[in-house]
Amino acid sequence: MFSAVADSLASLLFPSYCELCHHLIRRATGSTLCDSCWNQIQPWMGTVCARCGEPLISPQVPADWECGRCRRADTLFDFCRSFGIYDGTLRESIHLFKYGHRTRLGKRFSDLLMVLWNRWPQLADADLVLPMPLHRRRKRERGFNQSEILAQGFARQVGKPYEPRLFIRTLPTPSQTGLSRRQRRLNVAGAFEVRHPARLEGKVCLLIDDVLTTGATLNEASTVLKRGGAQKVLVLTLARVSPLAALGSERHSLEQDIL
Ligand SMILES: [Zn+2]
Ligand SMILES: [Zn+2]
Repeated sequence: MFSAVADSLASLLFPSYCELCHHLIRRATGSTLCDSCWNQIQPWMGTVCARCGEPLISPQVPADWECGRCRRADTLFDFCRSFGIYDGTLRESIHLFKYGHRTRLGKRFSDLLMVLWNRWPQLADADLVLPMPLHRRRKRERGFNQSEILAQGFARQVGKPYEPRLFIRTLPTPSQTGLSRRQRRLNVAGAFEVRHPARLEGKVCLLIDDVLTTGATLNEASTVLKRGGAQKVLVLTLARVSPLAALGSERHSLEQDIL
């Protein structure tokens, strides 16, 4: 009761506005987004490739079904899942987090990764939680590494060791935007290094990143981690770029057609 009164008093005295839709935030939660915007961030609940987690259009596939890329052995990590498709409010809020420096969104985003942790028991095999490293020059420019914020909060919640310095980025690779899949692969070649191979030997690594685009960076990171002694590389990301985003509301009717 007291906290409800204190809450409304605080929101009267210090009104805060949602940074996406600009509506008044009613509760003094110190939040960057209003409840309505948060509620628009929904997990991908459709089918996925058993290995890389690529969202699939088919409403039903066998549980062990793998996408073409994984079947061609083009996926070098062992298991990956993403919370949602990189689109709409999820995309806008990640932008706010990364480029708008709203680092306190990190806590809520770690909670989204917990949804995946609770859904996929394979993740419990992880021995170490690692953030996708950012080159120190990039980190200095941005002021933080968004993946470190996510990975640290997540590691604390699941009670696994957090290792931000085992695996580093040695090249400040140019932005991947606008590059083809092949160019992306070349762009990240030689960009990573394992610092303490003894601590990685035989370990199952859980690598955390904000957005998965083509998987070129993850593939390169996984190759280096495995060369450095890791037994397996599991991956969690908040969002993933998917052609299904473009389909939007058409998706449902397409599924009907397939059925
Ligand atoms: Zn809002
Ligand atoms: Zn796949």
